[in-house]
Amino acid sequence: MYLVIGVLFILVAIKFLSTVDDYELKKRRKEQEKEKKRLEEELGAMFCRNCGKELIGGHEICPQCGARPMRGNSFCSNCGAPTTPLTKICPKCGEGV
Ligand SMILES: [Zn+2]
Ligand SMILES: [Zn+2]
Repeated sequence: MYLVIGVLFILVAIKFLSTVDDYELKKRRKEQEKEKKRLEEELGAMFCRNCGKELIGGHEICPQCGARPMRGNSFCSNCGAPTTPLTKICPKCGEGV
């Protein structure tokens, strides 16, 4: 009888511990996401005007297409919406491109 109670107790303890672990993990992940967002805002995300890839921080060369991110004219650098060489104002975000 004591053995059964002992086993049950251990099972409950394991369940409790793994729940705490889960909670800690989720909390840590949330903090990481928050930190990432803060960094993105601080550094200023932009989009490669040549291929439309989102770039975080000042990139001289786009890691995706190898062009200078401000050289192209196919995408808005502010929101990543597709533009044409004739686009002066982005139709999506209203920024001058
Ligand atoms: Zn690119
Ligand atoms: Zn835009």
